[in-house]
Amino acid sequence: MSITDNIKRLKSETSLLDVNLIAVSKTKPIEDLQEAYNSGQRRFGENMVQELVEKQEKLPKDIEWHLIGHLQTNKVKYIAPFISLIESVDSIKLLAEINKHAEKNNRVIDCLLQIYIADEETKYGLGFDEAIDLLRSKEFISLKHVRIRGLMGIATHTDNEKQIKEEFYELKTFFDGIKQSFFWKESFFDTLSMGMSSDYKIAIEQGSNMVRLGSTIFGTRAKI
Ligand SMILES: *Cc1c(COP(=O)(O)O)cnc(C)c1O
Repeated sequence: MSITDNIKRLKSETSLLDVNLIAVSKTKPIEDLQEAYNSGQRRFGENMVQELVEKQEKLPKDIEWHLIGHLQTNKVKYIAPFISLIESVDSIKLLAEINKHAEKNNRVIDCLLQIYIADEETKYGLGFDEAIDLLRSKEFISLKHVRIRGLMGIATHTDNEKQIKEEFYELKTFFDGIKQSFFWKESFFDTLSMGMSSDYKIAIEQGSNMVRLGSTIFGTRAKI
């Protein structure tokens, strides 16, 4: 299957369900992204700032770029002028830095809080209590140049479908609670990003409305 075929198939699968498809193009060459673009794909996700910036410079400007990997505070300035969504906010310190650079660029940057749901110590993200503390903090309320659009989570890398399902269920339940408690008046709090190539069908069943697909679109990546 070509990238074009994959995009077409996944687009029809997801658009019927009102699920946003993010093409995760990390490690893939520009030509692959261009092919996906030519098939109509406009939303791309990358996990490294430098790679994202290089690709953004070379590709059409109507692409919406999502940062989906851990972001260091000293790199925010490189993506602040153009990034559409930072999906991986995992501290108030990072959010404050994003706010600062958004203000410099005269814009508001959309963000998701990354929530830790996996049973793996290597994954980043806020615990449920930490996310609540962040949203309650005086500092957060003072940030006028960031907008929290929703939550993102990565399930455990496992064949145990029951476990994956439970992790996504927990995140959806938490999302609904956060919406009720903090964003009940804000229609912009609408994004629950969960699901990758191996588990996106389970994620959609559990209420995801944004899936981040890499290998299903572009083929497997070389291990780095
Ligand atoms: C790499 C990556 C993906 C896509 O992974 P695939 O298994 O190739 O679909 C999704 N989300 C995040 C955060 C990633 O780093």
